[in-house]
Amino acid sequence: MLAGPTAVGKGTVADQIRRRHPDVWISVSATTRAPRPGEVDGVHYLFVDDTAFDAMVEAGDLLEWAVVHGRDRYGTPRDPVTQALDLGRLALLEIDLQGARQVRETMPGALFVFLAPPSWDELVRRLVGRGTETDDERTRRLQTAVWELAAEPEFDATVVNTEIHATADKLVGLMRARAREAPARRPSTVPLGPSTVPPSTVSPSTGPPEHRRS
Ligand code: 5GP
Repeated sequence: MLAGPTAVGKGTVADQIRRRHPDVWISVSATTRAPRPGEVDGVHYLFVDDTAFDAMVEAGDLLEWAVVHGRDRYGTPRDPVTQALDLGRLALLEIDLQGARQVRETMPGALFVFLAPPSWDELVRRLVGRGTETDDERTRRLQTAVWELAAEPEFDATVVNTEIHATADKLVGLMRARAREAPARRPSTVPLGPSTVPPSTVSPSTGPPEHRRS
């Protein structure tokens, strides 16, 4: 389970792991966000509309899901994770903090790794540098990032993403070590997702920042 703030490089780390460690199975999330240039449906995400996402939630097909950056929904399809674990594969989920907290409940034995930027300035530089977001979207993502960075102590380990190859290798090394100690077990099937938590019970100190929709 890999989480960390916007633009820290989670997607790039996942791409490197795909290339350098093909034995690692990487979960493909469903999202209502539009594809960015170069993103391939079924490889980087399953790009779905709101109706299809609703259907997955209602059918209990998602292991976890969340509204991320106050805008789009993202979720992990449950069956592929279960199948990968049943086959004894190393499995990587790259998800946001809300999703990580949900997975903590159903898969307490999983390894939770926080991917951290070398510095705040570097995080802003990477976000601006990739140039895929509008000014509004960047502001929203940086607000979420402050909240996500504060959650680092909740994780089992932190990897600072300074050099992408080293980061990918370090993460896979941690996964292998954990798998040797305690092989991951399939998730329990407790109903999950933000829809099960009434908004009034989400405390500002634990929930993501609220964003005004533009
Ligand atoms: P992006 O739009 O930049 O690809 O991703 C935005 C955020 O959504 C990132 O923090 C990423 O980790 C998170 N994310 C991607 N897939 C999932 C998922 O399946 N579940 C959750 N909860 N978050 C996800």
